[in-house]
Amino acid sequence: LGSDVTVEGEEATVAEDDENLLGGLDVETTEEIEVPDRLVDQVIGQDHARDIVKKAAKQRRHVMMIGSPGTGKSMLAKAMSQLLPKEDLQDVLVYHNPDDGNEPKVRTVPAGKGEQIVDAHKEEARKRNQMRSFLMWIIIIAIFGYALFFARSILLGILAAGIVFLVFRYMNRGSDAMIPNLLVNNANQQIAPFEDATGAHAGALLGDVRHDPFQSGGMETPSHDRVEAGAIHKANKGVLFIDEMNTLDIRSQQKLMTAIQEGEFSITGQSERSSGAMVQTEPVPTDFIMVAAGNLDAMENMHPALRSRIKGYGYEVYMDDTIEDEPEMRRKYARFVAQEVEKDGRLPHFTQEAVEEIILEARRRAGRKGHLTLKLRDLGGLVRVAGDIARAEDKDFTERGDVLQAKRRSRSIEQQLADNYIERRKDYELTVNKGDVVGRVNGLAVMGEDSGIVMPVMAEVTPSQGPGEVIATGKLQEIAEEAVQNVSAIIKKFSDEDISQKDIHIQFVQSYEGVEGDSASVTVATAVISALEDIPIEQDVAMTGSLSVRGDVLPVGGVTHKIEAAAKSGIDRVIIPAANEQDVMIEDEYKDQIEIIPVQHLSEVLEVALAGEPEKDSLVDRLRSITGQALDRQVGP
Ligand code: ADP
Repeated sequence: LGSDVTVEGEEATVAEDDENLLGGLDVETTEEIEVPDRLVDQVIGQDHARDIVKKAAKQRRHVMMIGSPGTGKSMLAKAMSQLLPKEDLQDVLVYHNPDDGNEPKVRTVPAGKGEQIVDAHKEEARKRNQMRSFLMWIIIIAIFGYALFFARSILLGILAAGIVFLVFRYMNRGSDAMIPNLLVNNANQQIAPFEDATGAHAGALLGDVRHDPFQSGGMETPSHDRVEAGAIHKANKGVLFIDEMNTLDIRSQQKLMTAIQEGEFSITGQSERSSGAMVQTEPVPTDFIMVAAGNLDAMENMHPALRSRIKGYGYEVYMDDTIEDEPEMRRKYARFVAQEVEKDGRLPHFTQEAVEEIILEARRRAGRKGHLTLKLRDLGGLVRVAGDIARAEDKDFTERGDVLQAKRRSRSIEQQLADNYIERRKDYELTVNKGDVVGRVNGLAVMGEDSGIVMPVMAEVTPSQGPGEVIATGKLQEIAEEAVQNVSAIIKKFSDEDISQKDIHIQFVQSYEGVEGDSASVTVATAVISALEDIPIEQDVAMTGSLSVRGDVLPVGGVTHKIEAAAKSGIDRVIIPAANEQDVMIEDEYKDQIEIIPVQHLSEVLEVALAGEPEKDSLVDRLRSITGQALDRQVGP
């Protein structure tokens, strides 16, 4: 692997077009880059969310953050807690209630006081116990002496002394029970609390009272001592962060809402059969700011009352997935690398070239022209893997080669699956990348978010008994119908064949669970035309694109991954929508392997993909001649 990396390092110079990838930043390594202290200043991009967080911290409002994982939601929530005043912090104590042992009393004191109070109680109990022990020993000695001297029985002496001992022990236990339980301790807290309750079970979120196996007889633990704080109590005066809100069960969501509304919430045992369930404390303060996060789906599935509560008393913000690629922003990405290195604490800092490679990857992952990805958790993962590689080799700095190696290593599950799949298909020779075949097109699809796959489409046209039908295998029926519908308008214009009288069978060969097919309409149309006109299609070509009723080829997602998948499958040429040309950010290693052909119209697709000269030429000519003509009338199925 090592040699591999050096070769690549030589052949691909980073700043190809002489641009300054670091945005004019003049540093040799990330060691020279200063990392801001406050978390809120470390956040890259997300200007809108950052402003909201600052505003909400000032006004003590709740925030709902909607966006992709790893774009900085929890980071911003934590940053928010740093912005809250620390003066407001409180300690919470739970006391034994002499009137009702099952309803412990709750007292709130300024932060730091709690420990003092508990210590004072302990000290008092210690003194009292000391006094008592002293008294006890005097009594024991007196009784023992008395028994020996008058009754002349050691046994009687021991017995009497034993009784005295037990009585005193019981009294001591009683005074221990008077020591309060410091439920929430903010004594050493430098900033307002931040509690992440993502995926917390009821007890961890709402607090709990432990079960007591000895419920009586002098062995029991007093109920106030068994009370445990939940995240809503620990977050008092701070921030409670919950990601994937909808995974919280409805009952917990309801209780959470009560806590938000009332600003306090009693603690009781969460398990119904435990003795803790008999205990219910006085209300414990829960004056926190709620930051609820998730994707759009999560938001829609959360308890409507809770959602409107947060919305009505706070802000909703969307997180960006990408940000415009500008010199200033690229400088921040360099700082991002420095931040991640410092956060980890063990990684060697990055050289300038290594940072440039990270920025290139941020561009590639954005999948959008002129943008950088903001899915920074994943990018941070790449930084760590690269740093680990350098560290394993005892290097002083992480170099470009380490990043390149890391990129190959840190592939997503989908990418690994797709690679595996491509390999398997090669074994079975399912991939056809040579010769020409009628009605068969190498389509391209995206799997997961970041991997492509070659998905051949086969079409067969047969005369129909009744009105023509589109028959597709698998889940892609809808896509097939739509594609055929779109292409049928065009076909009507240039072909003598009437496809409304025919059945069109479409097969997505080996379509895969999780494959998205919405960008397959150019592929389907090409396969149908080939089958209908009986003109073969070149198999060294793969294609992707969406089709309009006028035959325009419209942009699709994931072109970079699709092109790479085609290259890996041994395909020589790939047709993509011209509008996607700017999104292509394939790895250098594929650049020589595959020719990229951007097209605007179906006629161009056919020109490239069809084989068999005379028929092909006449068909493409006919198609071209109708381009620009009105095709407004959408033809029904
Ligand atoms: P989310 O809560 O959106 O899933 P996190 O806030 O947990 O994402 O992000 C995980 C890590 O990724 C952060 O700790 C930070 O290192 C990095 N990160 C994510 N987004 C950003 C950002 N916008 N700016 C800087 N670092 C980020």
